[in-house]
Amino acid sequence: QSAVSSSPSDGNNLRSPICCIMGHVDTGKTKLLDCIRGTNVQGGEAGGITQQIGATYFPAENIRERTKELKADATLKVPGLLVIDTPGHESFNNLRSRGSGLCDIAILVVDIMHGLEPQTIESLNLLKMRNTEFIIALNKVDRLYGWKTCRNAPIRKAMMKQSKDVKNEFNMKVTQIVTQFKEQGLNTELYYKNKEMGETFSIVPTSAISGEGIPDMLLLLVQWTQRTMIEKLTYSEEVQCTVLEVKVIEGHGTTIDVVLVNGVLHEGDQIVVSGMQGPIVTTIRALLTPHPMKELRVKGSYIHHKEIKAAMGIKITAQGLEHAIAGASLYVVKPDDDLEYIKKAALEDVESVLSRVDRSGEGVCVQASTLGSLEALLEFLKTPEVNIPVNAINIGPVHKKDVIKAGVMLEKKREYSTILAFDVKVTPEARELADKLGVKIFSADIIYHLFDQFKAYMDNIKEEKKKESADEVVFPCVLKIIPNCVFNKKDPIILGVNIFEGTLKIGTPICIPSQDFIDIGRIASIEINKKSVNHAMKGQEVAIKIVGCNSEEKQKTFGRHFDIDDELVSHISRRSLDVLKTNHRDDLSMEERKLVATLKRLFKIQ
Ligand code: GDP
Repeated sequence: QSAVSSSPSDGNNLRSPICCIMGHVDTGKTKLLDCIRGTNVQGGEAGGITQQIGATYFPAENIRERTKELKADATLKVPGLLVIDTPGHESFNNLRSRGSGLCDIAILVVDIMHGLEPQTIESLNLLKMRNTEFIIALNKVDRLYGWKTCRNAPIRKAMMKQSKDVKNEFNMKVTQIVTQFKEQGLNTELYYKNKEMGETFSIVPTSAISGEGIPDMLLLLVQWTQRTMIEKLTYSEEVQCTVLEVKVIEGHGTTIDVVLVNGVLHEGDQIVVSGMQGPIVTTIRALLTPHPMKELRVKGSYIHHKEIKAAMGIKITAQGLEHAIAGASLYVVKPDDDLEYIKKAALEDVESVLSRVDRSGEGVCVQASTLGSLEALLEFLKTPEVNIPVNAINIGPVHKKDVIKAGVMLEKKREYSTILAFDVKVTPEARELADKLGVKIFSADIIYHLFDQFKAYMDNIKEEKKKESADEVVFPCVLKIIPNCVFNKKDPIILGVNIFEGTLKIGTPICIPSQDFIDIGRIASIEINKKSVNHAMKGQEVAIKIVGCNSEEKQKTFGRHFDIDDELVSHISRRSLDVLKTNHRDDLSMEERKLVATLKRLFKIQ
């Protein structure tokens, strides 16, 4: 019997809370993890910290020892804390079950010198989306100018040792960052001043290098979870388990790394895991965790367990796991359970994500590494500010067949023949084919980067289309001839006019509605006070030159085909309206949109 399998959830009936670390790159997530893992605490694993698969387990004992200087109420009800080893969005996204988060609490790391950064905001959005509690680690306090190191000290004790200047700079930075969070719609406060925990998010200043504030952070994590999540943390027989990674391991074949959030797993349990080709029904061959004594660890050597209780990070070996999907749930089939029912549940877990494609059949293709990241990306694309329709989705690397699928959109809507590849590889053959077909592939491992790339691309296409359609588009305008300003009656017609409605642009075809919509030609030039301009606005008085629409036809003549009281109006058509609507909608004011509607009626366009 190993130490690992007996420690969690003994004593009272709570399981260990599961904690994820998130935040912008370089804020110190990895370092913070190293720091709490005790690389600078004597004893390391001797302090009871155990390495699991994909996670590190901190027993309550270890946390009590490290937080004793804080003289807090020492009753720790949870058996310990399970911290997921891979910081960042990926593991957080995968720790999901049917759309809700399985991570109990997150540490959102913010660099005190940089404040909120793009990925901090992305993390915030993910946390909100999955409704996950979090605390903010305001890291790198040791970088405040003049900071005096107080190794592993509680933060208030360390602050007392600092000079007035350091304290001032610290307060200023905290105020700035609190304001930045407020701009994101979030109330935050230094944890020891926070009287409304739950409403107001707590900030813990830390240094991952010298350890100041780490005791505070550990204590806050356990105290907050055990105070507010008793129900969620109560150990239950019902298995809650998610696949974090699918890996091939020498000597074991394809294995899955899972986080057992609740319940118990046994060797020999029949399980169901979602696969790319439908649910996989198999039997647990081995439940593995790493060997506790690092120095003795031989590559590929693991401890085997007969059973494992939550919460725990485990490697499972079983047959047929090749197509298992990371981010999907793992189900245990008990003797009385209906296998078909469980298979259906596993299928629905995946379908609930996969079915989020646009029914209109128009949209981009989206590809992600795991079910969890795909779900997060789809949720993001659906938000009103983003609103990108999705036509097809897939999990795993982008292959040629995915490019072919995206190519279908080339005919329908060129800009949608695009693959948004999130945290996945694109094979060289796929890239080559995409170039040949004109399919765009955008790849990134940060959601908002994908969005930025796609948006820039869409804007570019819009501009191009505007240019292409410049000849076809007709902006609506109504002109009145100014008396005594008829400078030339024909070839070309030159008149002084008042722009009564709309915008006048060069190239606009002009007709006379009151004379049976007779066409008198196109605007060849516009002058304001003898200066040439490309366009003129409502209310301006301008001189215009009108030339015949085509050279064969004789040009109409002022005084014969139309007269001083006739209004000159842009000649619109169904086609010109379509171009206007698709490519220039944003260029029109409310008033101009109304004018379009009026002219549509005038020209009897359906
Ligand atoms: P991650 O990308 O968020 O995982 O960031 P890392 O943990 O890799 O840290 C990025 C850099 O910041 C590294 O050079 C770290 O040594 C440094 N760093 C991290 N935490 C601290 C800290 O608390 N104080 C200082 N001075 N440097 C830190």
